[in-house]
Amino acid sequence: VQYYLKNIETKAHLNAFVEVYEQSALAQADLIDQKLANGNAGKLAGMVIGIKDVLCYSGHESNASSKILNGFESQFTTTAIQRLLDQDAIVIGRLNCDEFGMGSSNENSAHGKVLNATDESRVPGGSSGGSAVAVQANLCTISLGTDTGGSVRQPAAFTGVIGMKPTYSRVSRWGLIAYASSFDCIGVFSRTVKDNAMVMEIMAGHDEYDSTSSRKPVLPYSQLLHFDKKAKVAFLKETIESQALQPKIKTNTLAVLDKLKSEGHTVEEVEFPLLDFILPTYYILTTAEASSNLSRFDGVKYGYRTPNAHNLESMYKLTRSEGFGEEVKRRIMLGTFVLSASYYDAYFTKAQKVRRLIKDFTENLLNDFDYIIMPTTPSTAFKFGEHSGDPVAMYLEDLFTVQASVSGVPAISLPNGKDENGMPIGLQVICNSFKEAELYAFSNYLT
Ligand code: GLN
Repeated sequence: VQYYLKNIETKAHLNAFVEVYEQSALAQADLIDQKLANGNAGKLAGMVIGIKDVLCYSGHESNASSKILNGFESQFTTTAIQRLLDQDAIVIGRLNCDEFGMGSSNENSAHGKVLNATDESRVPGGSSGGSAVAVQANLCTISLGTDTGGSVRQPAAFTGVIGMKPTYSRVSRWGLIAYASSFDCIGVFSRTVKDNAMVMEIMAGHDEYDSTSSRKPVLPYSQLLHFDKKAKVAFLKETIESQALQPKIKTNTLAVLDKLKSEGHTVEEVEFPLLDFILPTYYILTTAEASSNLSRFDGVKYGYRTPNAHNLESMYKLTRSEGFGEEVKRRIMLGTFVLSASYYDAYFTKAQKVRRLIKDFTENLLNDFDYIIMPTTPSTAFKFGEHSGDPVAMYLEDLFTVQASVSGVPAISLPNGKDENGMPIGLQVICNSFKEAELYAFSNYLT
């Protein structure tokens, strides 16, 4: 803990941490020392973790990096965090992110931007930018993020660490401040596959507080990392041939596929005609869900309340106008629009149908193949301000990560070399639902 506290202090300008729990982390460490001496310490004894600012932790503030949750303190702890604490992990602090998880660059945070430790003039990715940089810059051993459309995998790719999004419903969402409830997943950042697997196997599993959490048994992923099969791998023509893809990312992705072939694995190109529909589907459905989820922030129950109101209605209006940031407001407006009576069928219902097509296509493909491989992102980390004036350009950053989110299947981003500027490149591996063990084993083989 002292080691990490020192690193956090020297790297404070990266702005990864919103708050450091110095006293409680040191106290927890002392307690675990005793447990270790007594031989009754948990499986994660002494593992130092950071948590994204959208995960509630009893007695601590959580803001979702939004002014509207200023001063909000949760009365309970996220199930996933509680399970790690029960195994004697140490929570060292909460990590910066895009407001309510909405963004791809961590530029939409009420706590300010996070710097990429490889090149401080570049973004760390988002929305879990603080979580990614915390592992990248050695400020904690592992960190928790959330991934709705790529928010763990994309910042992992931008910072050269490992980022895993499990199957939707594998990890309980209890305690996670909702963005889009049918997409949201808690995920893990780490430096090694083994650390990632150890944390995931403890967080995963049914939770009585989240009725959507799966009852399927959880395998001991970290003990199943040995890979000695011949894999059947698909890559999607449209991703590799995408105009948006940077040449060096293409080269490095193809190099992995070639290597797999030379090692006797089956690698086949597959056509994916739905790629163009993925982003519109994702942004229609997530903004719709977000507009509904965020209606609870009205100045009455949580966090910020405007000091300028003169009656109840102006209290609601001013609190929301002053409390939410630009991007969140844009999404609430988009979401209420696609849910409005005259447009519901044209947008929301249509997007639900396309979601089903994408999910069916992806699951069928993953019945024929063990894994899908593609780049995690079309580009490496870009400079601050490069996309911030153009929301559509920013949404395009999510081109390759949203397929797994729309389909609910697990996906991981692994480091795959660097570009000409020394910026990390990510390789994404996707697997069928609840095959986390297979995904970790193959990732272990690939790294
Ligand atoms: N960039 C995507 C979005 O803004 C993904 C965010 C996320 O996964 N939380 O919606």
